[in-house]
Amino acid sequence: MKIDTRLLKILDRTQEGIPPSRQDCAAMLAYPAASAEASMTRAIADAIGRERFGNSAVVLSQIGIEIQPCPGRCGFCSLGENHTRLTPGAMAPDEILAIAGSLTASGPVYAVFLMTTHRFDFRQLVRTVERLRDKLPRGPRIVVNTGDFNLDQARALKEAGVSGAYHILRLREGKDTELSVEQRLATIKAVRDAGLDLYYCCEPIGPEHTPEEIVDQLFVGLDYGCVQHGAMRRVQVPDSPLAALGQITELRLAQVTAVVALASLACREIRSIGVHEPNPVGLTSGANAAFAETGANPRDTERDTTGNRGLGVDACVMMLREAGFERLMAPNSGIACPST
Ligand code: SF4
Repeated sequence: MKIDTRLLKILDRTQEGIPPSRQDCAAMLAYPAASAEASMTRAIADAIGRERFGNSAVVLSQIGIEIQPCPGRCGFCSLGENHTRLTPGAMAPDEILAIAGSLTASGPVYAVFLMTTHRFDFRQLVRTVERLRDKLPRGPRIVVNTGDFNLDQARALKEAGVSGAYHILRLREGKDTELSVEQRLATIKAVRDAGLDLYYCCEPIGPEHTPEEIVDQLFVGLDYGCVQHGAMRRVQVPDSPLAALGQITELRLAQVTAVVALASLACREIRSIGVHEPNPVGLTSGANAAFAETGANPRDTERDTTGNRGLGVDACVMMLREAGFERLMAPNSGIACPST
């Protein structure tokens, strides 16, 4: 057996700090997930990531604060209008504050993400952020994961205490979703123009996505200077329109994660690489971020993902430690040792 020399040349260049081109990334994604080439790609991405980030990792947490039939109608999401089976409801602001306090009490959580569906009450979200900022004055960063918003709204979120937004152009946006590509990109631009951190991800990856599609989608995050990139696979949510297309393995997800991590050498702003849901293969393939999740979750059919698909903070810390990370990034400065 001989490793493909084209891959060896690509990986040689990445070890010199030269990011792979779009064509290089597509070539790396075309190898079978169980091939020696994919294993080598993952190994090099892991080594480069550990050196780049000082073998430090980051724990983030997300609270899904509402369940509504969502007009985005994404074909993979348990909340999509027309196919959701979840009963609508929303967390009261006091409940959100209590959950955020509990999630962050033990220390290592770098940021709390507040997630809504596509249609959301903007003023209510701003009020919640303000109260959360008051409750956690020196605590974790606050990030929103919500529907589209304009530049004025991005500035208002920043003024309220938001430091960043998770916003992506999904794979096959506008085809597998009923959302506008132009609107999604306009929101991403508003995030950056307002001076907010952009959290991006290659998602939701399914078996049908070609290397070229994955490359086009992942480079959007790099083009806009995201602070976090990553990869997430589509979960086969029962009754969702795309469930019949199947699900990629954690090994394939790790391969995509590795390519994202190597491509991210082109983006100096990046501080971490995520893999969703967190798993040991991805965290030894270039990823160094793990999300704890609670409340609503587009990948879950339970009202509260805690204890089902969603990992807790302690489980994330443990998984990162088992993956060999020695330090956790602290919210307001550099690095703190993980709690034991
Ligand atoms: S992924 Fe988001 S935008 Fe799409 S249906 Fe689910 S909640 Fe709505």
